[in-house]
Amino acid sequence: MDRHIDLRDARVLVALTAALLAGGLLALVSCAQQGSGTHVSAASDAAQVTAKEEAAVPTSTEGGAGDAGASAGEGGLEPGGNGADAAGGTSEPGTSPEAEARTESEPDLDPGHKSASIEPAGLSAGDELSTQDVERAGGASSFFYAEPISDEVFARMEGKSFGADCTVPREELRYLRLLHVDAEGRTMVGELVVHRNVADEVLDIFSQLYQAGYPIRKMRLVDDYDADDNASCADDNTSSFNYRVIAGTSTISNHAYGLAIDINPFENPYCVWSMGVVSPEGSSRFVERSLHEPYMIHADDLCYQLFISHGWSWGGAWAGDVTDYQHFEKPDALWQ
Ligand SMILES: [Zn+2]
Repeated sequence: MDRHIDLRDARVLVALTAALLAGGLLALVSCAQQGSGTHVSAASDAAQVTAKEEAAVPTSTEGGAGDAGASAGEGGLEPGGNGADAAGGTSEPGTSPEAEARTESEPDLDPGHKSASIEPAGLSAGDELSTQDVERAGGASSFFYAEPISDEVFARMEGKSFGADCTVPREELRYLRLLHVDAEGRTMVGELVVHRNVADEVLDIFSQLYQAGYPIRKMRLVDDYDADDNASCADDNTSSFNYRVIAGTSTISNHAYGLAIDINPFENPYCVWSMGVVSPEGSSRFVERSLHEPYMIHADDLCYQLFISHGWSWGGAWAGDVTDYQHFEKPDALWQ
């Protein structure tokens, strides 16, 4: 390109240089004017001004933020804003976000917000809880407690698990609230009715099972199944108290005293070998105890260890004609 420029074009070069210098000057003037916030229309070259205004858009945006800050400063004169003004001054852009953060945090102090906290007693068995829910309720221990049979609970039991022929005083029973985790890792509210003499240790056992993530499918009162043990077991429901006789006999079951608990009954069936009985219906494949599937109880697992260490015995270890893999009991506790 340089080869095509000769001395005759020297004036052109000078003119071009002058024009460039003028352009630079214009830009400088323009910057100064932008900084002062005055309008730049006074510049002689309209094209330069237009280009500068376009280039100045981001700067204008910053200026806008400054304006917003000023507005916030003005807003700071509103009730409640004086403190922010005194602390940060009206010219500090940082004042604005702080003021906004304060405004956003204010609803947390609203009593209405607290009403959203979790109240364990207000939940029902089967309700699912997130980790945050458990924390908001004060931690897992808030969900593990025993109480006398309330009128509300008794209304569920009367005529069902607590039939007209029940010889166990209502005062000897306790209603337990607890948490359990299913095989999918979901935390759920559970409930049991047991004898008062084992209430604390049963809470301790299930608290440890929960902490360890030992899976339990469901824990609802058998009354939700009209005290029909077969229906409860077929639904894989873990339960304890039910005033009834041992299946196929006239002997009062330890469940009738709240001193026996059936856990995950579908995967841990009740078997009468001589009669080929495997209950509940459809659970016969779990007679094969070498399987290691969720909800199955094994002699070396945590569920077994905890009950045994608390003096309970396991029906899965019965070597006679009846083996009851779901069943733990502690009849001696009646005399404690
Ligand atoms: Zn049982």
